[in-house]
Amino acid sequence: MTYHSWFTCPLLDLQAAEWGNFAPLIPPRYLHLDLPKHVTRNVSRFRLRAHTLAVKSSIWRGGNGHCDMCSCAAVQNEVHVLFHCQDLFVCSHRRKYSSLFFPFCQSFSMEAPYISHAVPRQTVFDFLSQRHNRLCHFISDIMDYFLAGEDQQQTNQPNDLPGG
Ligand SMILES: [Zn+2]
Repeated sequence: MTYHSWFTCPLLDLQAAEWGNFAPLIPPRYLHLDLPKHVTRNVSRFRLRAHTLAVKSSIWRGGNGHCDMCSCAAVQNEVHVLFHCQDLFVCSHRRKYSSLFFPFCQSFSMEAPYISHAVPRQTVFDFLSQRHNRLCHFISDIMDYFLAGEDQQQTNQPNDLPGG
């Protein structure tokens, strides 16, 4: 299944397995990083599809799941927001984090900070496997933007309902 192939993390530590020690599960690297809680939570939500991007929200809201932030008429899924969405704010974030893209996306440029062709699964996996804390911050910023005004606000802000 495509979605799982983007995020799959190895279930076995291959080096340990060679030595006969089978580690049952290796938690994703970002869980070990000293990241702000908000960033860790956003990355978890992104990886687990526990978000309200249209690919998910269309299941209960109806609709075709297409992105409403750009004119691509493509499904707004994780890969769309990472690589393809041409929304100006998303593009400005890709420029800010351009060092994450250049090694993987030859057509990426500061003038056109999006990918207009399909990105192979392996490239998505390799991109998401980068050992850069900046990747987590990029994903978190993208999540903040796409989920703004939805459930994100409710969880980020204190309950300041008027008393009485
Ligand atoms: Zn879009």
